[in-house]
Amino acid sequence: MSQKAFASQADLADKQVSFTRLSEHAYAYTAEGDPNTGVIVGDDAVMVLDTQATPAMAQDVIRRIREVTDKPIKYVVLTHYHAVRVLGASAYQPEHIIASHDTLELIRERGEQDKASEIGRFPRLFRNVESVPPGLTWPTLAFSGRMTIWLGRLEVQLLQLGRGHTKGDTVAWLPQERILFSGDLVEFDATPYAGDAYFKDWPQTLDRIAALGPEKLVPGRGAALTTPEQVQAALSGTRSFIADMYASVQEGVKAGKDLKTIYKDTYAKLKPKYGHWVIFDHCMPFDVTRCYDEVTQYPDPRIWTAERDRQMWEALES
Ligand SMILES: [Zn+2]
Repeated sequence: MSQKAFASQADLADKQVSFTRLSEHAYAYTAEGDPNTGVIVGDDAVMVLDTQATPAMAQDVIRRIREVTDKPIKYVVLTHYHAVRVLGASAYQPEHIIASHDTLELIRERGEQDKASEIGRFPRLFRNVESVPPGLTWPTLAFSGRMTIWLGRLEVQLLQLGRGHTKGDTVAWLPQERILFSGDLVEFDATPYAGDAYFKDWPQTLDRIAALGPEKLVPGRGAALTTPEQVQAALSGTRSFIADMYASVQEGVKAGKDLKTIYKDTYAKLKPKYGHWVIFDHCMPFDVTRCYDEVTQYPDPRIWTAERDRQMWEALES
């Protein structure tokens, strides 16, 4: 009986936090593959990109920000709707919480279920979950496609470059410094979670990120990337993981195999190349299930509930 513990319930070891300065204005709060938070310090205000999972955890981000600036934290940007990046928002007491309309739609449609599902999957990432206020985190500003915010003389572009990790993915781009904050569209030494993804669209969205020409990049998970070569490596690593999984699942479906067989085949194929990335075993069942759905009959991701999570895990890992 060597069944894997559900999702990341057995992952209890705390990670080492780094607060990396990328430029006069840009910082990355990273923790060895745990969800990252980006920080942009403008002339008159601070913008935070993704919040951490709870207000208690966000307090540590605020502590780091206060080591480099005393400017007010005016804006929180949600790169997408996942609870692990959203539920810490209240700690910053921002004037505005900004997200794409597509992300707002997802919060309305499946925010409650996603919250319960994510807390169940990864309890360590929801430290002091009782500090999360009741209800959901709601954007106060929503945009479609593109929004520019000036932090004094510093231009910040919020861009929807296409679907990928979710349908609402937003990146933040500092054109003057060629620094990009990607959210979970790009990962580095960390397995892309694709349980809510659009596999066919994701590689094209990565091409559009590459076309901006970022020289530095803060990924959704993994260390801050401080050279164009590292940015390239993260983009191509994420792209090949998504493409390899899609090819494997498509091949299995064409051969008439069932989901569990396709899962075992795809796991075996991807493990040698990507098995050393953090949360590989956590992500694979969700990713293959969503990929199978997209290849067969569901253009849009189905809602994960705590119950569906368990049923899927039992079916694929037992
Ligand atoms: Zn995510």
